[in-house]
Amino acid sequence: MSSFSGVGVSSGRASGPVARVAEALPEPAAAPAPTDPAAEARRIRPAAEAVADRLSERAGAVGGEAKALLETTAAMALDPALLSQAEQLVTGNSLPAARAVHEAANGFAEALRSAGGYLAERVRDIHDVRDRIIAELLGATPPGVPDLERPSVLLARDLAPADTADLDPRLVLALVTEEGGPTSHTAILARSLGIPAVVAARGVLAAAPVVGATVDGDTGAVDTSSEAVRTQAAQRPTEVNWTGTGGTSDGHSVSILANVGSVADAHLAVEAGAQGVGLFRTEFCYLATDDEPDVPTQRAAYAGVLTPFAERPVVVRTLDAGADKPLSFLDMGVEPNPALGVRGLRICFERPGVLDRQLEAIVAAAEESGAQVAVMAPMVATADEASWFAERVRAAGLGRAGVMIEVPAAALAAHEILDAVDFVSIGTNDLAQYVFAADRMSGALASLNDPWQPALLRLIAQVGQAGQKLGKPVGVCGEAAADPLLAGVLTGLGVTSLSMTAAAVPAVGSALAAHPLAAYQVAADAAQNAPSAARAREAAVTSLQA
Ligand code: PEP
Ligand code: MG
Repeated sequence: MSSFSGVGVSSGRASGPVARVAEALPEPAAAPAPTDPAAEARRIRPAAEAVADRLSERAGAVGGEAKALLETTAAMALDPALLSQAEQLVTGNSLPAARAVHEAANGFAEALRSAGGYLAERVRDIHDVRDRIIAELLGATPPGVPDLERPSVLLARDLAPADTADLDPRLVLALVTEEGGPTSHTAILARSLGIPAVVAARGVLAAAPVVGATVDGDTGAVDTSSEAVRTQAAQRPTEVNWTGTGGTSDGHSVSILANVGSVADAHLAVEAGAQGVGLFRTEFCYLATDDEPDVPTQRAAYAGVLTPFAERPVVVRTLDAGADKPLSFLDMGVEPNPALGVRGLRICFERPGVLDRQLEAIVAAAEESGAQVAVMAPMVATADEASWFAERVRAAGLGRAGVMIEVPAAALAAHEILDAVDFVSIGTNDLAQYVFAADRMSGALASLNDPWQPALLRLIAQVGQAGQKLGKPVGVCGEAAADPLLAGVLTGLGVTSLSMTAAAVPAVGSALAAHPLAAYQVAADAAQNAPSAARAREAAVTSLQA
């Protein structure tokens, strides 16, 4: 079999040789015991040194954050405590070297995890070092992206952020993953690099040996027949230089905003030319701690992100914990079905103090930064919940309150909800998962989470119509907004602002300016009446070419 069908998540077509991203090896066995434990223990240091040398070499070839990340990982590989503990496990407990490294590293990782805060974030790095030393000891391929010597299509089960720290965009023609969905790290990374990508291409990893591939990031098709080996890079939208004000070619205004979750994101968003922030995810402030951060700590963290946007609009989303983002201080216990459990605003009904303290910090950070701050709540299901939130926001002294539309019930009740608040923003990542009853992280269900699904577009249309009737803004801040073609369709459905990863801002801003509003309305009509996601995209393309 040489044709695979996945979900296209980043537009364009490219062909070239395939480079496989190696997966971590299975857990090494604790037996057999080495016949000469002292000699076995002496194998550990050279293996760690070889790993550190390779990481340092990679660090020497790049700059910025990637360099720092690789240098830190190299230093971890040579950590004297880690190495001597592993050696002792060989000599004292008669473990094979690979197993000893596994156990020593896991002990370190556990200690870091329980230290919490910044240290807990290093657990993933320890695991990375562990897997690299083990691969070295076993003479196996180290996990992660191989050194690319020529432009290649990367083929992976899924990509983690650490896998891609030093990816050279000139050497990556396209990304293809067996798993992952439209909101996965792979999808976000591909859009930010401006290269074609297909996720959830089921079966592609088993199709050995794959030498070359042609990847179509629009249709989701991956062809691994040998004719595909000829290297052909997709045209990258590098020449796009977005500095403008968002809108259609006939001047209908659509704000082009950025999604941010850290100070670094905020600076990237300003550089990309975003007109403001449509989604500031505040979770980062809570994730690094075991306890609820106090108001001054929150205030300082938020002010850091808001300051680059002085005088400009920023929508701050209140804490979206629960489900995939559990927080230890909330002590929520085990829920049988966390995605349908107490998450987002639902947490605050039982603990309004968490919300009130966050609002107090947001008010102070807004004053300090000079940004035009509005606040919105995640996971709102009813108009009563929206009113409850808006009252608390206004009582805290903030002028503008909104809610996210992520639950199908909220989309169906958009009119009543918009009556209670100043604006809404559609979270298409969650709205798709709840409309289709399909986990947004599941590779197997990725095609259901495709934001081109006509059923999703019809719900968005209902929200757009409610906004138009009441004269209130309707934004989209899910990954759907980062697709330049879909951005026009969303505008045609009545959406008035689009918020996305900073890297997508120039491409979306300039694509939107290519057609008048009426053309997008016709394209939107065609897309939402199509029988499938693929046909919806085709219908939009055909309609805009007419
Ligand atoms: C969404 O659900 O679309 C969204 C933007 O929120 P998050 O991805 O943070 O859940
Ligand atoms: Mg969401």
